[in-house]
Amino acid sequence: MTYLSHLECGYCGKTYEADAVWNLCTQCRKPLLARYDLKAARKGVDREAIARREHTLWRYAELLPIRDAAKRLSLGEGFTPLVHARRLGAVMRHEHLYIKDEGLNPTGSFKARGLGVAVSRAHELGITELSIPSAGNAAGAMSAYAALGGMKAHVFMPSDVPPPFIAECRAVGAEVTLVDGLITDCGKAAAEGVQQFGRFDCSTLKEPYRIEGKKTMGYELAEQFGWALPDVIVYPTGGGTGLIGMWKAFAEMEALGWIDSKRPRMVCVQREGCAPMVRAFEENAEFARPWEDAKTVAVGLRVPAAVGDFLILRVLRESGGTAVSLPDEEMIIGSMLIGRTEGIFVCPEGGATLAAFQRLRKQGWIGDGERVVLLNTGSGYKYYHLWKDR
Ligand SMILES: *Cc1c(COP(=O)(O)O)cnc(C)c1O
Repeated sequence: MTYLSHLECGYCGKTYEADAVWNLCTQCRKPLLARYDLKAARKGVDREAIARREHTLWRYAELLPIRDAAKRLSLGEGFTPLVHARRLGAVMRHEHLYIKDEGLNPTGSFKARGLGVAVSRAHELGITELSIPSAGNAAGAMSAYAALGGMKAHVFMPSDVPPPFIAECRAVGAEVTLVDGLITDCGKAAAEGVQQFGRFDCSTLKEPYRIEGKKTMGYELAEQFGWALPDVIVYPTGGGTGLIGMWKAFAEMEALGWIDSKRPRMVCVQREGCAPMVRAFEENAEFARPWEDAKTVAVGLRVPAAVGDFLILRVLRESGGTAVSLPDEEMIIGSMLIGRTEGIFVCPEGGATLAAFQRLRKQGWIGDGERVVLLNTGSGYKYYHLWKDR
């Protein structure tokens, strides 16, 4: 059972009926967010009971947007390990260093959370054809859940995306279109099919439910820390869905009476060759200007413009957080350090969080004894090309 009540524009506050099909706010073209009757949920959901449930993100079903459990499309996503990285911590001289290992999700990245929930909801609402522009991991995740729901998947990816990202989509039956350009160009190519053939657009934050899947990382962190939150969360940011989602989860959990008002400082990590959020944070801007000529090996971070930019910037400011940009080489060195100490084959985006941690620790922004979570957002397997010559 869900306590889903309505949708609300994250910018202008206009509300929408939850059980109709929506993309962006029809008034201001900004993201819609799912709202729940948290007062009723506070009485109806017991956080102790959750501990006995299945080890997937569906353990938080009352705070997810699916009404009929039979419509759930699940490959076992979520409830990933929170690793206390003791050997890495010893090298860093930092005792309380943790890695949330999202590489263990189905399809090898945390995109399975967002798309597991979004495709389930689309399935429940009777949608049969899905479309997505993706820099890599989102395409594979959407394709997998579409297959499970017997839905048609159309994916649009940059033509220079590494081959495993294309292979995994084709292997589960998606129709792949390669586009010369970046994810924003893929978005334009996908939009034609959306307008002409009525395919449902699963672009992040252009539909209301991917963020609902990704927010479960926030629920899990609280549960895994014994219903407390860490001091700092370091997040490799593309569209920012996970960052905004975790922040939303914290507010929901406080309203549910599950946690207190203490919040982590949220850190956004981007690559020097594509850092629109870092630039906007430093300029104290409300929105981010699109980044020209975006380049990075971390495909998940190759996002020159994000629809949720104002939401990301709000989270960074409200949390007392910060934004860091790094060169590719530091990300790869960070990945190797995690691999050699903790035995986890992480994606370069995951490596970036360690490099950002090192920088912030050195500057004293992160203090001794603070509990820090690095989000390893995906597995390293699809990026094998980065390791060929090392
Ligand atoms: C998509 C992706 C990101 C960025 O996630 P957002 O929530 O869009 O900011 C980071 N790492 C990996 C591996 C990704 O696939």
